[in-house]
Amino acid sequence: MVPPPDPEVLAAGVRRGDRATIARAITVVESTRPDHRAAAARLLTDLQATPATATRVGITGVPGVGKSTFIDEFGSMLTAAGHRVAVLAVDPSSTRTHGSVLGDKTRMERLANDEAAFIRPSPSAGTLGGVARSTREAMVVLEAAGYDVVIVETVGVGQSEVAVSGMVDTFLLLALARTGDQLQGIKKGILELADVIAVNKADGEHAVEARQAARELSGALHLVAGADQDAWRIPVLTCSALTGAGVPEVWDAITQHRAWLAKSGRLEELRAEQRVTWMWDTLADQLMTRVRTHPAVLAELDAITAQVSAGQVAPGEAAHTLLALAGLT
Ligand code: GDP
Repeated sequence: MVPPPDPEVLAAGVRRGDRATIARAITVVESTRPDHRAAAARLLTDLQATPATATRVGITGVPGVGKSTFIDEFGSMLTAAGHRVAVLAVDPSSTRTHGSVLGDKTRMERLANDEAAFIRPSPSAGTLGGVARSTREAMVVLEAAGYDVVIVETVGVGQSEVAVSGMVDTFLLLALARTGDQLQGIKKGILELADVIAVNKADGEHAVEARQAARELSGALHLVAGADQDAWRIPVLTCSALTGAGVPEVWDAITQHRAWLAKSGRLEELRAEQRVTWMWDTLADQLMTRVRTHPAVLAELDAITAQVSAGQVAPGEAAHTLLALAGLT
């Protein structure tokens, strides 16, 4: 087996902003190999000594809403303004969701060829907890390397949004207007996570209906908002990822949200909560890995799974047996 890279050498290369070392460091933090985990832990402890000042933005929306087109435009706008932009993706189901590959470089051509940007696709293997852990750790690497805007892309289905909202400062929901008053791509629950909403594809013949949809949603959101004057009011904007119209305003809304977080003391609170969640996610991921890779578990797993599947053994009892086999009871 190839020996794990030296964490000190990795940390120095990351701090220098060396792209090959950054990629190598992320591979190490994504790895579940025990020797890699040990190297990753030392690397992260070292890198975390750098204060985290980057702006962390989550972006979600249903497949086809225009996430990759938006990130390409948005990211290029930011690098042109002097920012260094990293793009990560969280897609635990697989690297492929309804035909779109999250974080795929070919979907963000301009940004992929931009020296001031770094794009990393979602780790394909593992549980949501595992993917969330390695994404958080990749963020530490990228922030230490000097990327000051970190974008985490996720698809608008399932639990991934909750995981991503737990690792960013501001969560941007991209939505679509459709004929009538219905906004597509907004499921209950996601609205509660969104800090900024942008109705995309507000161009050509759809510009009018996009603005109409944004006004309606904005009105509805302000109706349900409480009377607290200091609370964050979710802005509902329109934009066109294709033409770039409205994209600077989305960045303005994100920086306003972050300023509000900082001013209200919420940013520190949020990051403190996120660190605790991160600890639990890491623990859950490591326990799961220990159980799933334990030789005694592997020897019995097929038989136990078949018995549970056939209803011969209760799932709870089987779970207990697996924990016991892994030496965890
Ligand atoms: P994703 O699946 O959310 O990443 O969506 P894509 O970025 O791949 O976009 C899906 C399709 O919508 C592509 O054909 C894009 O060219 C198109 N698209 C994306 N943004 C816009 C936009 O602002 N206006 C228009 N008219 N089309 C767009």
